[in-house]
Amino acid sequence: MDFRDSPDEAAFRRQARAWLEANAPLRDPHQVEPGVFENWPDAAQMQAARDWQRRKHDAGWAGVFWPPEYGGRGGTIMQQIIWNQEERRVLTPPAVLLMGQGHVGYTLLAHGTAEQKQRWLPPTLRGEYAWCQLFSEPGAGSDFAALACAARREGDHWRIRGEKIWISDGAYADVGFLVTRTDPDGPKHKGLTCFVVDMRAPGVTVRDVRHPNGGSHFSHVRFDDLRVPDADRVGAVDDGWRVALTTLMYERFFVGAWGSSGAFGGPQLRHLIELAGRCEVGGRPALQDDAVRQRLAAFTVRARAIEHMSYRVLTTVSQGGIPGPEGSIVKMEFARLSQEMTNLGLELMGPAAMLDGADAPLAGVFQAALLENPCMRIAGGTDEIQRTIIAERLLGLPQESHVPRDLPFRDLPRGGGWRPMA
Ligand SMILES: Cc1cc2nc3c(=O)[nH]c(=O)nc-3n(C[C@H](O)[C@H](O)[C@H](O)COP(=O)(O)OP(=O)(O)OC[C@H]3O[C@@H](n4cnc5c(N)ncnc54)[C@H](O)[C@@H]3O)c2cc1C
Repeated sequence: MDFRDSPDEAAFRRQARAWLEANAPLRDPHQVEPGVFENWPDAAQMQAARDWQRRKHDAGWAGVFWPPEYGGRGGTIMQQIIWNQEERRVLTPPAVLLMGQGHVGYTLLAHGTAEQKQRWLPPTLRGEYAWCQLFSEPGAGSDFAALACAARREGDHWRIRGEKIWISDGAYADVGFLVTRTDPDGPKHKGLTCFVVDMRAPGVTVRDVRHPNGGSHFSHVRFDDLRVPDADRVGAVDDGWRVALTTLMYERFFVGAWGSSGAFGGPQLRHLIELAGRCEVGGRPALQDDAVRQRLAAFTVRARAIEHMSYRVLTTVSQGGIPGPEGSIVKMEFARLSQEMTNLGLELMGPAAMLDGADAPLAGVFQAALLENPCMRIAGGTDEIQRTIIAERLLGLPQESHVPRDLPFRDLPRGGGWRPMA
């Protein structure tokens, strides 16, 4: 592991930092920020996000790793990561356009035709398309290969019928990356096909699903005979599992790499130390209490360990390798650590933990985290699924037992959901 930038990377970082500092104010590390799952942006915030994206694009900083023919900078994946780290240092509009430039965009780069890439990628980098990822269903989350949303070919179009749930950014997405079932007679992993769909087309209904904290961040999406041109199919018919795995691989990679941006743990630890400086335990400042100090020290060690695990992901990639299950460790550990830090914050507040929002200490950042943390242990693969990945791929334990992989989807034992399309 080598944490230092190479000379080229250091030069790139200086250049990126100079542009960012000239174009946006620095982020105040002590500022309490809204949680990731608080709310979707209003029209003004959405426009601000699109404008910021356009500004980056026009200055040549959008899609650092993407090929220039699709509007990107043609840089390395390490330069992309350095850019992400530097962009976090400045105050920008809400990051609501990330999915298109992140795991969905990378999937299109890997599996889209030249014509599709030309059609979808440049507008994405210009901030014209907000994307969502349409994978999960009421009966297919962890085991998303069991999905039932059906697509049937009708000439040069497909007819799509079914539902998706927990769709982040669904309410304002312009386009969605959808996985459907095209062959119910084949094994569940073999009969899937991916499409890009227009989220405003007739036949698409998006409903708000509330988070425990009252925030609106994800949606339930219904497709009632949505017509999608075959030209919008991504990858071969019935080869959607391979395409979708690319999306999931990039999602885990970005989560894994994000740990190196200082976004994980750092702000929460700072808030916790600030709080411990203001609260009392046993009649003296909490910061002088041995038990509190030990817990703060243990959190610091774990946060650093996560950060270093994240560097490991980056080192693998910078050396041309494919990241392994490290992303699962980063994601799982951070979600647990965040929950434990939140618990200490609320303990320190005593009865004030019952307050909320502006009335609460630190503008209610820990109260908000209490309701938001469980989401982090589910989104992008639950803790249990991450543990299975670690067990099988890191520890070499025997594979989890499954129903036979060659059983036709139609005959799988499963809950309601799939019905043959009339
Ligand atoms: C904030 C948030 C944002 C999300 N955004 C999106 C999105 O944009 N697009 C999208 O498609 N989906 C999204 N999801 C859905 C997410 O991917 C699923 O919730 C997740 O994969 C779990 O699926 P599930 O909810 O159906 O739970 P289930 O899979 O039904 O799991 C229920 C419980 O059983 C456990 N379990 C299941 N299978 C196993 C197993 N094999 N071994 C051990 N334990 C198991 C799980 O760990 C869990 O505790 C989001 C979810 C959240 C919380």
